[in-house]
Amino acid sequence: MLTQAPKGTKDILPSEIHKWQYIEKEIAKLCHDFGYKEIRIPVFEHTELFQRGVGDTTDIVQKEMYTFLDKGQRSITLRPEGTAGVVRSYIENGMASHPQPVKLYYNITAYRYENVQKGRYREFHQFGVEAFGAAGPSIDVEIISMLRLFFDRLGINQVSLNINSIGCPVCRAEYNKKLKDYLSPNLDKLCETCNTRFERNPLRIIDCKEEACKKITAGAPALIENLCGECHSHFEGLKAGLENLGIDYTVDKNIVRGLDYYTKTVFEFVSSNIGAQGTVCGGGRYDGLIEACGGKPTPGIGFAIGLERLLMVMENQGITFPEPKGLDIFIATIGEKADRYAEKMVYQLRKEGLSAQKDLIGKSVKAQMKYADKLGAKYSIVLGDDEIDSGKAVLKNMETGDQKEISLDTLICRLKM
Ligand code: ATP
Ligand code: MG
Repeated sequence: MLTQAPKGTKDILPSEIHKWQYIEKEIAKLCHDFGYKEIRIPVFEHTELFQRGVGDTTDIVQKEMYTFLDKGQRSITLRPEGTAGVVRSYIENGMASHPQPVKLYYNITAYRYENVQKGRYREFHQFGVEAFGAAGPSIDVEIISMLRLFFDRLGINQVSLNINSIGCPVCRAEYNKKLKDYLSPNLDKLCETCNTRFERNPLRIIDCKEEACKKITAGAPALIENLCGECHSHFEGLKAGLENLGIDYTVDKNIVRGLDYYTKTVFEFVSSNIGAQGTVCGGGRYDGLIEACGGKPTPGIGFAIGLERLLMVMENQGITFPEPKGLDIFIATIGEKADRYAEKMVYQLRKEGLSAQKDLIGKSVKAQMKYADKLGAKYSIVLGDDEIDSGKAVLKNMETGDQKEISLDTLICRLKM
């Protein structure tokens, strides 16, 4: 136990951190280009927020939350997703009075007690955006275009966009009646979970992964064909907007999303090359959520991308990640005087914004040079008493092997060239 990370968690090791940093940089750039500002929310919140915000008929709330009592006997939950926390912050910090729409993004860890498998962990990373205060389909188009561009910039070419509309409380209530009429003769054939959903949230039955349930729902009436006028024209507006930008999509009437607060637009980006956990990104509109969490009625829309799945897609596609900038120079030393001198020198180089290293554990010169090579140093020099006395040393280009005697005074200038 002591030397094993908890099930479903993973270290991100220094050998792979450049991939994460690259993606994080692309996220920041993308959000800047689209005018979304970063928000950082707490890792834990009051349990009630997720019960309300995520919805207590969802798998997340029913089965997957890390909930505990803190020492003050408060029920606390590790965030299973980002939206609820961002909505809480929007309300708590009076962002309703900021210029609308308020466009935010986050890059967080999330926690769910899940069956661990490929692409499904208990601690994972999500990049998400939330936009508040825009009711029309323009913002739906904007955030979907943001994702398309994100995938394009990362060189990902096998993710397809599926969209659907799950209507508003008015048309959904009408539809639920129709759906229940259709399902009721077959209730005994539906799984146990779907039987509990039948009264509370029948739409979720459409989303069930059980074969028996899928068979029955295959012929069910589709919500997309039963939208009210307003929801219908919103969906038409979304499709027209996507077509205007040349973004391909498929209407998938089976996307209902796991979360109760979604209204109108729902969408997914799905990859065909990472197996069962192919949904890289899920999102949609949640016009009822802010009010449900105690704010004024406010339209909202957002998405979340699982970064582990995004990385899987990129790796499976053979995308190479830009290597981080390496070490500029390694200063090898012989003797104590040179060591002191090198100590000052690397500090000076670092002050100049160069990346410099020296030996710290008394390695032999040969071992120091081997180490410099391992670190991927571009240049090296060896300093001994002679070099310090003469102020001259041999600068070695580690890539080409070229060597050149230089004056130590000119080192910074040379490295900066
Ligand atoms: P799934 O149907 O795969 O369980 P979900 O509907 O629970 O997904 P969301 O709550 O919409 O997923 O989360 C958004 C994204 O976060 C998913 O599309 C996925 O990329 C990622 N994600 C969700 N759960 C996990 C997990 N346990 N491990 C890794 N990534 C996850
Ligand atoms: Mg899930």
